[in-house]
Amino acid sequence: MGLVVQKFGGTSVGTIERIKNTAKRVIAEKKKGNDVIVVVSAMGKTTDQLVSLAKELSPYPSKREMDMLLSTGEQVTISLLAIALAEAGYEAISLTGWQAGILTENVHSNARILNIDQMRIQQYLKENRIVVVAGFQGINDHNEITTLGRGGSDTTAVALAAALHADKCMIYTDVTGVFTSDPRYIPSARKLSAISYDEMLELANLGAGVLHSRAVEFAKNYKVPLEVCSSMEEESGTIIEEEVQVEKGLVVRGVAFEDEITRITVFGLKNKITNLSGIFTSLANNNIDVDIIIQNHTVGENPYLSFTIKHEDLRDTTQLLEAKQGELGFDHFEYEFGLAKVSIIGSGMISNPGVAAKMFDCLTRNDIQIKMVSTSEIKVSTVIEESHMIKAAQSLHTTFELDVVEQGVS
Ligand code: ADP
Ligand code: ASP
Ligand code: MG
Repeated sequence: MGLVVQKFGGTSVGTIERIKNTAKRVIAEKKKGNDVIVVVSAMGKTTDQLVSLAKELSPYPSKREMDMLLSTGEQVTISLLAIALAEAGYEAISLTGWQAGILTENVHSNARILNIDQMRIQQYLKENRIVVVAGFQGINDHNEITTLGRGGSDTTAVALAAALHADKCMIYTDVTGVFTSDPRYIPSARKLSAISYDEMLELANLGAGVLHSRAVEFAKNYKVPLEVCSSMEEESGTIIEEEVQVEKGLVVRGVAFEDEITRITVFGLKNKITNLSGIFTSLANNNIDVDIIIQNHTVGENPYLSFTIKHEDLRDTTQLLEAKQGELGFDHFEYEFGLAKVSIIGSGMISNPGVAAKMFDCLTRNDIQIKMVSTSEIKVSTVIEESHMIKAAQSLHTTFELDVVEQGVS
């Protein structure tokens, strides 16, 4: 007998019919003789609807109150699923994040999980109950409800699987696995039978919303056996694991993209040494995630600095830069929104020079201007106009032969 963590996303629990279907999947796992912990998201588009309600009252609602509000979505689903399981004759108990012992840092709207007090869950499992946990939420050490960032239920599931040494963690969603690109926008995207933790981490970080990137971090750090599969169809999904054998010659494994990127450029940095740390420390202290950073220094001129942020952080960023202009020491700053990031990912890149050149050539042939570039051993990211995002992703998908090649033989 083992322990299995199953996670069902919003679409998979979007209606009462789907909650019944989810209950069947949970029961099937229980019938195999396993202990089961189920993590669920809010029903359908509930979280978006709750955000809209708050926005009707205020353009910038307090993050503490938003966490209070958004955490209610998952609470509806846990109770309904526990009711459905009981109705089918299985003992189940629903737990909110704090009841499940999920302790997070003192940050609202994007908190990290710090620790899981497993006592209560262990007790219920010992009593042979199915434990249904609300995804995406926890509690901080001031007893305040926190949330883990959009898509954070995946992280709840993987963190629980890591803490309780589960034998596997299944992420049930509305696609049949991890694809070479988002199948909703790239029709020729193909399902990968397996992908490495590192590649999945890059895909998730670079915009592939199928998994929350912190969930992949947990899975990688604690070697959690992870599978993404469909909650509706009976086909095998994608295994995420340490090493994946890739067919010879396959350099790029996926194309990811993300819209609503804003570029900030800070001109006339006066003190080259302290400016950078001052700016980025201030941004970090305000929980503003910075992505691509480029500093340019030509002889005889003050250096300038460009970096990208998510559009939702623009207001906080501009307020911060305005307030600290004197202290940080720069002339002025500008911003440009309506941008997108399009990236290619694959561990085969390390040993294959020319991948970036091929990417730039493809974008140039499509008349797409590249505004920023960032590379690592296993990815190349470009910032381009948002209006070209899908065209760029589709062309890169074709150029790197992802439309045709059967992938990920593990
Ligand atoms: P859930 O509510 O189950 O968590 P999400 O909407 O968060 O579901 O994630 C599933 C969605 O992720 C898919 O519908 C798909 O559009 C999107 N997606 C983005 N990139 C990928 C990818 N590379 N492979 C599969 N799905 C992807
Ligand atoms: N309900 C939250 C969201 O929509 C968390 C999740 O689904 O993972 O982002
Ligand atoms: Mg999700």
